[in-house]
Amino acid sequence: MPLQSQYASLPHAFYQKVSPATFPMPQLFLFNHKLAESLDLDELQTSQDNLALLFSGQELFPGSHPIAQAYAGHQFGHFVPELGDGRAHLLGEIQNKEGKLVDVGLKGSGRTRFSRNADGRAHLGHTLREYIMSEAMYHLGVPTSRSLAIVSTGESVRRETEFPGAVLTRVADSHIRVGTFEYFAHRGDQENLQRLIDFAIKRHVPNARNQKEKNLYLIDHVANKQISLIAQWMGIGFIHGVMNTDNCFISGQTLDYGPCAMMDHFRSQQVFSSIDHHGRYAYHNQPNIILWNLASFASCVLLATLQDKKTLEANVENYLQSWRSILQQKLHETFCNKLGFIPSDKSYDKPIQAFLQLLEDNKLDFTNSFRSIAQLIHDPNKDHSLKHTQEGTAWIQMWLHELTHGKRSQQEIIAQMNQHNPHMIPRNHWVQRAIDQSIQGDNTTMEALLKALRHPFDPAQEQKPYLSPPTAEETIAATFCGT
Ligand code: AMP
Ligand code: MG
Repeated sequence: MPLQSQYASLPHAFYQKVSPATFPMPQLFLFNHKLAESLDLDELQTSQDNLALLFSGQELFPGSHPIAQAYAGHQFGHFVPELGDGRAHLLGEIQNKEGKLVDVGLKGSGRTRFSRNADGRAHLGHTLREYIMSEAMYHLGVPTSRSLAIVSTGESVRRETEFPGAVLTRVADSHIRVGTFEYFAHRGDQENLQRLIDFAIKRHVPNARNQKEKNLYLIDHVANKQISLIAQWMGIGFIHGVMNTDNCFISGQTLDYGPCAMMDHFRSQQVFSSIDHHGRYAYHNQPNIILWNLASFASCVLLATLQDKKTLEANVENYLQSWRSILQQKLHETFCNKLGFIPSDKSYDKPIQAFLQLLEDNKLDFTNSFRSIAQLIHDPNKDHSLKHTQEGTAWIQMWLHELTHGKRSQQEIIAQMNQHNPHMIPRNHWVQRAIDQSIQGDNTTMEALLKALRHPFDPAQEQKPYLSPPTAEETIAATFCGT
């Protein structure tokens, strides 16, 4: 199964050539057969032991030249000129069954020149969270990097306590981040900055290659992808937790499932990350943050051709204005779809905000409140948690009146709502429970959870245990950064 080395063919300024660490006892812990199939890797007629060697970097695929990629990043708004892969190795690229080139990389695979004082390792709990959450996001229809394998290394990794070490294999459209552009822009390295832009265009927007204003085309492309992504996150109550520019892929895929979690009861200021003390990456702030990240991205790309600082800033300001309105429009469409409204109708903004306010005031579950409300279209007398207050009852009356006086059929509206309101999400208390049990050697919950997450919009018997919000005792208030 030969890999390509397109990124590794760029000049050395882009990476360090470095081999993964040697591990005492690599053992295959999880393998994503469906994903392997889509990469034609099911032809790997090999034993579990060999898979463990390949997906911990002990043996290399033919054509693989492992590298640690260089990048910078704004972490919680503060610029760090050099971050880079401190515990990850890009093995190379592979063509999937659709003919698209994707990156295959390891995480937790050892120290590199970007490791600073850290150990270059990942612990099993961290890799499991990424595996479960990225699979859940994929099946929810949200663009995401994916997890191909987890190999336990036989080492123990020291964090708050000792944990089993593991390597995760990540597959993504590319690992180019906003922070990769910041890396070269900050150094004033115009040549490599333009090289990176050209590489990104070839990979992600090949149609733009011959366009005169191709750099600008890339900016628009990335902005549209990221704006759509954030609207999708908001629609399912996903809180990323560390949307630093180094965790922001230009492919528009979700990356870096550290302290992320899904919201149970709705709280617009919800934060899960134990290190996000000021709520920079709180639920309601995610749209602002993506604009912030995009502004940084646009500045870097513009810098490749434009030296005048004032003109550059004015251009970025213009971009921001237009992105802000596109983002508002996308968010509006997302919530119109969830409530069965016609997405193009601006007048629904008020009822949407009122609905969210009711959820927040009454601490109602985000996922279940949206999913179950459609049932009232057929059966207005059915109970619903919103009906337990006067304001909620009035809102429902207004909403039913609005929906039933249009030209669309009930079936059409219910179908629209059910397509946009998942019934099954990876609730944080279940994710944590699955991880804790797996670390103790029992994969039953994790396997059952992964199975139930495969069809989040279609109710099934096996999902039953996972649908209820946590009780007060089960609630997990903070998710550790988990590095
Ligand atoms: P993250 O918080 O995972 O986005 O990582 C931010 C930066 O810290 C990246 O440059 C990572 O490569 C680096 N990093 C995080 N954890 C480790 C670790 N255990 N060893 C080495 N580098 C790390
Ligand atoms: Mg990261």
